[in-house]
Amino acid sequence: MFELSIKGDIASAHFLRGYPGKCKDMHGHTWKVEVFLAANELNELGMVEDFAILKRKFKDYLAELDHKCLNDLAYFQAVNPTAENIAKYIYEGFAPLVAPLELKRVQIWESDMASAIYYG
Ligand SMILES: [Zn+2]
Repeated sequence: MFELSIKGDIASAHFLRGYPGKCKDMHGHTWKVEVFLAANELNELGMVEDFAILKRKFKDYLAELDHKCLNDLAYFQAVNPTAENIAKYIYEGFAPLVAPLELKRVQIWESDMASAIYYG
């Protein structure tokens, strides 16, 4: 199996409902997001997929989340926009855009020291 990863980032705001600390108030992060894509076979060029195509798709997808308050999205009315739930949200939104490649996981870094990973 082959696996690729590409990275992007979003600068967005959020707040955590019910959180007993500072994160209950609106604040921002520049989240770094890494997605991992797998394929069993390479294409005729010897690639899983052209990085340029993947990076453009990922950048376009992340643009929908950039400079937004994530709590305003319908998805985050039901669940808090924690790093864990943002990773799942990105997984579910981005996986169909890269099919038939398999999106293996999404890792989102809230800081250099802390990240969450969602496996589909
Ligand atoms: Zn936060």
